[in-house]
Formats: sequence, C-alpha cells, structure tokens
Amino acid sequence: MENRNFYNEILTEHNMHPDFKHDIEDADIVLDGINPSCGDEIQLKLKTDGDIITDGAVGDGCAISQASTDIMLGMIIGQSKEKALEYADIFMRMIRGEASDEEIDSLEEASALRDISHMPARVKCAMLGWRTLSEALKDK
Ligand code: ZN
Repeated sequence: MENRNFYNEILTEHNMHPDFKHDIEDADIVLDGINPSCGDEIQLKLKTDGDIITDGAVGDGCAISQASTDIMLGMIIGQSKEKALEYADIFMRMIRGEASDEEIDSLEEASALRDISHMPARVKCAMLGWRTLSEALKDK
C-alpha cells in the first residue's frame, strides 16, 4: 500500500511540476515516440556533447508517459549515452519482471513505476519514453 502511495505521489509531482517540458532549439537528437493504444505522442529531444547527454526535453503525453519520461530525463542528463541505454534496458526489464532487485534499486525514483506491470493498459505509457530513448541512441 505504501508503495502505491509513493507511485501516485511521484506521478502527481512530475505532472504538476515537470522538469523537462520545454523546447530545445538546437537539439542533436529528435525522435517521436508514439503509443497508439493510449494516444500518447511524445517528442524526445536530446542535446549531446560527444558521448555525454547534456540536456533533454519532452513534449505531450498522458500522465504516466509524461511522468515516466520526466523521471528518465532527470536520470540521464549528465550521463553517457551508454549509461542511458543501460538505464533504459534495466527499466524495460523491470517492467517485464526480469530485472534483479539490485538493478531496480539503481533506478532510484523510476523504480516506483515497477508496479505498473500489474496494469497492462498503462505499461506502454510507462515504457514510451524509455523505448524512444533506446531507439534514438541506438542509431547514433
Ligand atoms: Zn499513455
């Protein structure tokens, strides 16, 4: 029950006060992420300096995709692309129930979304930003 409250708190916080809902005019990487089952259409923008992600922003989506992507950007800005891909991999495995407790702990705030795997309709929303991130970085 405690976990569920934590989950709601995090969703509310990131929707009321998103940290990365702005535009980056000189973004190096721009990729649209679409989740037809919910109608989410996010646009992920990243700015990089060599191998390091220096800024990020995301456009509209539902409450869950928005919060999940906002948390994600908070984690990956300042990290290398490789580290960001590693986080994305752990996050997606966490949702599928395949990540170890240690890996889940390493996701910090994002680990609050682990219980979303019990809400199949929302899984794609939670994964959208992370999936878009992996696609965006894998091409580079
Ligand atoms: Zn959604």
